[in-house]
Amino acid sequence: MDQNKIRNFSIIAHIDHGKSTLADRLIEYTGTLTKREMEAQILDSMDLERERGITIKAQAVRSSYKAKNGEEYMLNFIDTPGHVDFTYEVSRALAACEGALLVIDATQGIEAQTLANVYLALDNDLEIIPVINKVDLPSADPDRVKHEIEEVIGIDASEAVLTSAKTGLGIEDVLEAIVAKVPAPSGISDSPLKALVFDSKFDAYKGVVLYVRVIDGRIKPGMKIKMMATNAEFEVTEVGVFKPNLVNVDSLEVGQVGFFAAAIKNVKDARVGDTVTDANNPAAEALPGYRKATPMVFCGLYPVENSDYDNLRDALEKLQLNDASLVFEPETSVALGFGFRCGFLGLLHMDVIKERLEREYNLTLITTAPNVIYQVFRTNGDVELVDNPSNFPDPTVIDHVEEPYVNATIIVPKDYVGAVMELSQEKRGEYENMTYLDETRVMIHYALPLSEIIYDYFDRLKSVTRGYASLDYELAGYRASSLVKVDILLNGEPVDALSAIVHREKAVSRGRQLVEKLRSLIPRQMFEIPVQAAIGNKVIARENVRAMRKDVLAKCYGGDISRKRKLLEKQKEGKKRMKQVGSVELPQEAFMAILKMD
Ligand code: GDP
Ligand code: MG
Repeated sequence: MDQNKIRNFSIIAHIDHGKSTLADRLIEYTGTLTKREMEAQILDSMDLERERGITIKAQAVRSSYKAKNGEEYMLNFIDTPGHVDFTYEVSRALAACEGALLVIDATQGIEAQTLANVYLALDNDLEIIPVINKVDLPSADPDRVKHEIEEVIGIDASEAVLTSAKTGLGIEDVLEAIVAKVPAPSGISDSPLKALVFDSKFDAYKGVVLYVRVIDGRIKPGMKIKMMATNAEFEVTEVGVFKPNLVNVDSLEVGQVGFFAAAIKNVKDARVGDTVTDANNPAAEALPGYRKATPMVFCGLYPVENSDYDNLRDALEKLQLNDASLVFEPETSVALGFGFRCGFLGLLHMDVIKERLEREYNLTLITTAPNVIYQVFRTNGDVELVDNPSNFPDPTVIDHVEEPYVNATIIVPKDYVGAVMELSQEKRGEYENMTYLDETRVMIHYALPLSEIIYDYFDRLKSVTRGYASLDYELAGYRASSLVKVDILLNGEPVDALSAIVHREKAVSRGRQLVEKLRSLIPRQMFEIPVQAAIGNKVIARENVRAMRKDVLAKCYGGDISRKRKLLEKQKEGKKRMKQVGSVELPQEAFMAILKMD
């Protein structure tokens, strides 16, 4: 295939603007799959994923398109995940492309993640083709969206393509725009191999499968390759492309996108962002690669059954093979026993991992409330990173503490500006600026502590704006904050897994809310349980979980045997996610109480 006829592109969009639907239409229109095959494909791929542990869902699809000029083009379409947690995944997909389709919902206009994605595309010098989608809807207003594109993004929108990914309108126009505007790859075919690894998957049979974009040279089976970051060498066993199922090919040529396998056992040897070169004829320099994804959110994971500890470690190790951004290390909690402190890119990432541990590895886990990572400056000059509130040092040895801040972008109809500001102020936000996108919508920038975002900022933002606000944020470094540790005591004993770091001004009110919430969550027992919140030695709040009333007990131990069994079964169910802490049984919800206070 002539290098000039290759087009590598991504689709970027704010969530729900139609990225996946448009991708399906493109695959269908180019005849890569028929409608029936597409349905079958989706079923197939789920089976395949289960059997072979490889996700092949439209990751990097190769299709061919015969353009109106009569020429045949090879299109490599690289899919990107949409959620803010996975922004770094978007950026690595974009680095493998020359162009991007920027999909914008004609009824909504530009949203926060539209902009975040545009910035990533611009960082990668991509040709951006605006696509205004959902024009079939009565409330579609493509002219307003064009105006926003020009005003806010500053790119020419006069040739924006209008589509309905639902009805298929405009799909050919999209393909023609790709052919006409996205530059062909510019690599050199007889230079030493240089290929960018933009993703990897573990396959039980093939080993690690690397998704690559060949920048220079070519890659084919039998070749000895070297990973430039680690210097590890492997022999290529197969190369192929996604159609979107895996199809082996003789070679991947300059500018092409596909996969290869080389009996690599560990994803750590095949880092995403690394450069693959020819071991016998290596390139002089590696490609720029990616910024390493750093975990921002931490929590403790503990097996409900202590005997599952080794199983949990095995499961985490296996998941890490597929996901280098997951970090974990053993930790011991007085309350919860042996477990792991795990680091994630964000809350969604955390939920996904927890869900996979429970579903795929059949574990029942207690999760502690998520927290950010703090920089504690001690009076003796030492600086310490604290990723677990219970390790927060005694206030007397702390000089000051810094916490991570984000730059937040909020897009909202102008009527809600007041509500957004009030909320952001309450969340310790610092107002930066505000611009009008058009007569009705504004974009507001705030610096906000990441911990407040984790806490409940997004939920509250959605509720005060009746769902109209969109939010995007990026880490913006550390700032000094007045933070204290609030401890929780049950029966007078501190429960380390319930400690939380909060702002000094809010410590008392959060302490009160927390003990109240815990009182309502802790099941009554035969004796009264005092629940206290304390800062250092000072108790700031107290509630009591009252003892069970006698007549309730009498009912339990009454004569009706089936009723009693039901009760016991119910208790057993409830116990699944309980942890005995001293003489008190704590349900999973108790550990998350800090996040669920209204
Ligand atoms: P993504 O989150 O950007 O991948 O968005 P999806 O492709 O999942 O689409 C979100 C929703 O919008 C789905 O319910 C789609 O059926 C719908 N949708 C996508 N494109 C169109 C369109 O052109 N017209 C209409 N009416 N609905 C669309
Ligand atoms: Mg989607």
